[in-house]
Amino acid sequence: MSQQNNLDHPKLDLHSRTGTNADTLQRAILDNLFYIQGRFPDVATPHDWYQAVAYTVRDRQLHRWVKTAQTYKKQKSRSVCYLSAEFLIGPMLGSNLVNLGIEDEVREALSALGQDLDVLLEQEPEPGLGNGGLGRLAACYMDSLATLEIPAIGYGIRYEFGIFHQRIENGWQKEISDQWLHLGNPWEVPRPLLTFRVNLGGHTEHYTDDHGNHRVRWEPERVVLGVAHDTPIIGYGVNNTNLLRLWKAEAEQSFDFEAFNTGDYYAAVEEKVKSETISKVLYPNDEAISGKTLRLEQQYFFVSCSLRDMIRIHLQQEPDLSNFHEKFAAQLNDTHPAIAVAELMRLLVDEHHMDWNPAWSVASRTFSYTNHTLLPEALETWSLPLLQQVLPRHVEIIYEINMRFMDQVRVLTHDVCGAVTRLSIIEEGEPKRVRMANLACVGSHAINGVAALHTELLKKTTLNDFHNLWPEKFLNVTNGVTPRRFLLLSNPKQSKLISDRIGEGWITDLEKLRGLEAHLDDAGFREDWRRVKRENKEALAKLLKERTYVDVDPQSLFSVQAKRIHEYKRQHLHLLYVVTLYNRIINNPNLSMAPRVHILGGKAAPGYAMAKLFIKLAHAVGEMVNRDQMVGDRLKLVFFPNFNVKNAQRIYPAADLSEQISTAGFEASGTGNMKFSMNGALTIGTLDGANVEIREVVGDENFFLFGMTAEEVVHLKTNGYHPRHYYDGNAELRAAMDLIASGYFSHGEADVFKPLIDNLLEHDPFMVLADYEAYCHAQSQVDDLWAQPDLWTRKSILNVARIGKFSSDRAIREYCEKIWKVQPTPVD
Ligand SMILES: *Cc1c(COP(=O)(O)O)cnc(C)c1O
Repeated sequence: MSQQNNLDHPKLDLHSRTGTNADTLQRAILDNLFYIQGRFPDVATPHDWYQAVAYTVRDRQLHRWVKTAQTYKKQKSRSVCYLSAEFLIGPMLGSNLVNLGIEDEVREALSALGQDLDVLLEQEPEPGLGNGGLGRLAACYMDSLATLEIPAIGYGIRYEFGIFHQRIENGWQKEISDQWLHLGNPWEVPRPLLTFRVNLGGHTEHYTDDHGNHRVRWEPERVVLGVAHDTPIIGYGVNNTNLLRLWKAEAEQSFDFEAFNTGDYYAAVEEKVKSETISKVLYPNDEAISGKTLRLEQQYFFVSCSLRDMIRIHLQQEPDLSNFHEKFAAQLNDTHPAIAVAELMRLLVDEHHMDWNPAWSVASRTFSYTNHTLLPEALETWSLPLLQQVLPRHVEIIYEINMRFMDQVRVLTHDVCGAVTRLSIIEEGEPKRVRMANLACVGSHAINGVAALHTELLKKTTLNDFHNLWPEKFLNVTNGVTPRRFLLLSNPKQSKLISDRIGEGWITDLEKLRGLEAHLDDAGFREDWRRVKRENKEALAKLLKERTYVDVDPQSLFSVQAKRIHEYKRQHLHLLYVVTLYNRIINNPNLSMAPRVHILGGKAAPGYAMAKLFIKLAHAVGEMVNRDQMVGDRLKLVFFPNFNVKNAQRIYPAADLSEQISTAGFEASGTGNMKFSMNGALTIGTLDGANVEIREVVGDENFFLFGMTAEEVVHLKTNGYHPRHYYDGNAELRAAMDLIASGYFSHGEADVFKPLIDNLLEHDPFMVLADYEAYCHAQSQVDDLWAQPDLWTRKSILNVARIGKFSSDRAIREYCEKIWKVQPTPVD
């Protein structure tokens, strides 16, 4: 690992208590083991040691953190508040060591104590506070904000149970609850004094105060407490340490004494249990809405706590809230926090007695909104009666916002083609519904999509009426990922190879990777590049063997699709191709082909039957293919269980081929595509999401493109799509589908995969069959290139050399310049 040593770092002010040389670290680790955990080396478990190291690292973060808070306060910096229901931060120890630049010293200190850092890193449970791409994006952005020295707070929910742990039983997914807090969380600092009371339910009372002002009082049915839990987020090679502030729900009183005194013990604790439920568990649906009361309560709960925390911070420095928007830029990560628009209005008008118009001016200049989806089933709406029940005051406020907005719209549009109805925050129907995307658009000064294609489609389709109304509000910020976690930390060998050639500047300026192009013609460099990939594949092969008992040959082409399981992502297209290869071998036992290992991974939402069936199919096909003597090492199919950040860090570096095969127009951006490319995989993909821009920068000759464009998808759909036509017209497709339908992979039980096959033949909503032939063709181009290893290596190097754009640092710089208008505040 390329390391920078903080002792050489002029910016860091070290003193002995939190020093970072190996001797001081060793002392500190022992102290923490003893004084925090009450353990001593003879009896300490690896987990005890992990925690002792974690506390040692946290101590070193805390002193930078205090310094950071002081600096931001003194400079009165404008802060970014990133509001997100999910932060999929992943394990912290590794990335904190990298960002502090003390990995080598900690390793040395531990080896003097007879401990191996790599073993201890494995001890850390994953904080799975997100489903997939959206939550991981928020985590990458926190890393970049700190690294770019931007004052920022991430606000979210401290779920007691994060995303479920995926176990596979007989090929089916089983969800196991995730007890990540079970053994304690050394990274967080609970702030019991930083607590807000959050109202829920009840009714409102309108009255006139002593000065003749119209006022509203919300008489809630119940109150829950939101308690802050802070996790320091340190930037790479800087002192700036920002805050991830997550809210935990607690009961107002832990006992209802009246019930208790009358002897009803269980009724007495019921309220406590009910309150704490709010932050109990993450909803495990990616790209789908739940519509459940509890989900709405979660959203309101964290938004209310966060906004009131911002107001608290603001009033420490300023006399009133009239310039609140100058001090804070609040980003809505999708519509999950969109109720913030109404809540800030309530706080300003009802609680801080601002007039409506200035309050609206403040609110709408505070918020900006990132849209993450074009899928209609993922566009959040809440039934009005439900909203009324949970947030009666907010319904009034939303009506007020909407009435004023509708008046404005009528003047501006003269209601051309019914635009007024479509723009309305309230959707007519039985019952009426509140459209959260519309609320977010109306209440924000900027609206962005997450890749160029996605933003264009937003403007043309999903948010077309808003775009016609306010074209100037729309802009694109293509997603990015942090090269610290997803290259430096997770792929130390490739990182070292890069740094040996071009220095370490790429770590904070990823465009510098372009310097690698100058080494393209160096045969020794290409040789090293191949060796590193081989070693990463050997490591993954070993892990696959441990987790799945399948043997794979690291010489084979590793083709990987690892992401949430969803029909639009088309894992079934990938599986149809694997079955096609299998058929080819059966029909021609002497077939000479590039040996391939196909690796799938990803969780299915627990209620998403079709996605769960994909997982079963992957296992069923794998079971037959992997043990077929005739196939040998030419083809393997492995499902890597429990895809999470920890596993992702082992998978991305070992991929030769990245499968990014969603139906064009459905993947907003994708970030997995960027991580694979950064780690030297070539992509086989459609013109969807950020694939379009990845192909643009790496060069179309270094990318395996296939499939319909988003336009062609729409065109085909509107002109009548007949999947059976493709089935009838392609013998290999027919053979693959027939083999699955025959029960060959399911012990003769033809019923098991019938829903999948029927769905493809009758509806095929994501046009798998239409793209099948083009996909197979692109896969044979992959084989052709694989047969020329040196050419493959060149293209792999070029993918990395040109991937700089997809650093989350670039994305955050764009947000800072175009939306948030914030400047760095360095901490010395
Ligand atoms: C990057 C990442 C994702 C997003 O992957 P996509 O391919 O963009 O869907 C999901 N889960 C984890 C754990 C990730 O690291």
